[in-house]
Amino acid sequence: MFDIHELYQEVIMDHNRRPRNFQVLEGADMKAEGYNPLCGDQITLYMNVREGIIEDVGIQVSGCAISKASASMMTEGIKGKTVKEAEIIFEKFRELVKGEELDDEDLDLLGDLEILSGVSRYPVRIKCAVLSWHTFKSALSGNTDGVATTE
Ligand code: ZN
Repeated sequence: MFDIHELYQEVIMDHNRRPRNFQVLEGADMKAEGYNPLCGDQITLYMNVREGIIEDVGIQVSGCAISKASASMMTEGIKGKTVKEAEIIFEKFRELVKGEELDDEDLDLLGDLEILSGVSRYPVRIKCAVLSWHTFKSALSGNTDGVATTE
């Protein structure tokens, strides 16, 4: 029997085993650090933005499976997008992991990130899932002091 939840599990495990864009970008325009005190997840994000487009993103994660998979999927989701598009994806992603209903258009926008919707059943894991996104926002705002998840 085909089980959609097993497929989701597979994709998350795959991102854990082979995280995408886990690299230091030397001389990156933007850099930020994020920390989730509840779980101990730590993220450093590097990003190059040219004329409003996210040209390259690199990330380093020390943390749990969800924070790693979410960060890996985020880099794939935002690379090549405009900053504005990426911010909209973040808004929709945040709604998704909080268990809000999204329409088809929003789900299209999220792509693979939809797989993390199961996180909504585990409130303590939501912070793990959104940490990389908060770090992304922090990098955009030029905050180099580090950001801690507060929601
Ligand atoms: Zn975590």
